[in-house]
Amino acid sequence: MGAPGPVDFDRSPFLVIWEVTRACALACLHCRADAIPRRDPHELTTREGLRLIDQVRSFGTPPPLLVLTGGDPMWRRDLAQLVGHASGVGLTVALTPSGTGMVTRARLEELKAAGLSRVAVSLDGPDPASHDAFRRVRGSYAHTIRIIESVVELGLPLQINSSVSRLTLPALGAMADRVSEFPLTLWAVFFLVQMGRGAALEQISADECEQALVFLDELARHAPFGVKTTEAPHYRRVQLERGRAGVPAAPAPGRRQLRAPRAVNDGNGFVFVDHVGDVCPSGFLPMPRGNVRDGVLVETYRNDPLFRDLRNPATLGGRCGRCEFRDVCGGSRSRAFAASSDVFAEDPLCAYQPPGAAS
Ligand code: SF4
Repeated sequence: MGAPGPVDFDRSPFLVIWEVTRACALACLHCRADAIPRRDPHELTTREGLRLIDQVRSFGTPPPLLVLTGGDPMWRRDLAQLVGHASGVGLTVALTPSGTGMVTRARLEELKAAGLSRVAVSLDGPDPASHDAFRRVRGSYAHTIRIIESVVELGLPLQINSSVSRLTLPALGAMADRVSEFPLTLWAVFFLVQMGRGAALEQISADECEQALVFLDELARHAPFGVKTTEAPHYRRVQLERGRAGVPAAPAPGRRQLRAPRAVNDGNGFVFVDHVGDVCPSGFLPMPRGNVRDGVLVETYRNDPLFRDLRNPATLGGRCGRCEFRDVCGGSRSRAFAASSDVFAEDPLCAYQPPGAAS
């Protein structure tokens, strides 16, 4: 397994997320991709996928972490070939399968043999009723638990992904208890961006988000696993503020956690390649800036004006623009865009009032 990615996010992302297909058997309430029950004939072919992997590798050393996502990546029959090639060129590869019967023990064994480094499984409720209601397929919880057990038995590092919205917030404490029962490496908590199917879900308030981030930081200071947020970079601000207030520090993450050396944000340490090869700053920020079929992944990430602006805190507006934490946070650019159509506006899910800022 390679070392965690580089710190210079102007040259290379920490994470490259590739949506290998948009096909999925589930119909989850928060789905960014609005996944469909069939494969798109225009999605990247095996040959194009292998070329994409080479582009990821050409960011240099240490290489980015490659996450194969969907839809449900298990729909691709060439998955082991893709994992094997990525592993062979020195990439660390993680996979985010959907909780369905397509994930068999034999298939996981094949992927592990090909060089897979981590499996991230979504769990969005502490019990079958709440999880299946969110995933909108009965039996998804049972599949998810079965997948978790197989991943653990195979000795693959386990990440659990959970989402926070008005629907799931009341169960956050119960979810923390549930995930703590597993020998997981990392709990990744996604804060809703209202796009795709998620546009119909109700958002929590900024104050509720603040309380949730404090809860997660407190958990992280004691849990034997890491806790990270997705689309809530102000978690970093909460960590810093609590640290300055004298709350004892969280244990340093071990190498197996594969965590970024500093917070990543859309287009800043993070790049998303969709199922047809379009390069976007995030899966929640559908602003294609080139296509990997043209071999432009590295060039787009480093030099495209939007990507460069997303890495420049001086572009931020509203409270984020006046905030002393903007260098380490910057707010969710995806949520700003979803809420206001302005990718540089303030993140409405942050309760922080920078000194001197009007509310
Ligand atoms: S105001 Fe913006 S930059 Fe400051 S902590 Fe909140 S989200 Fe982050």
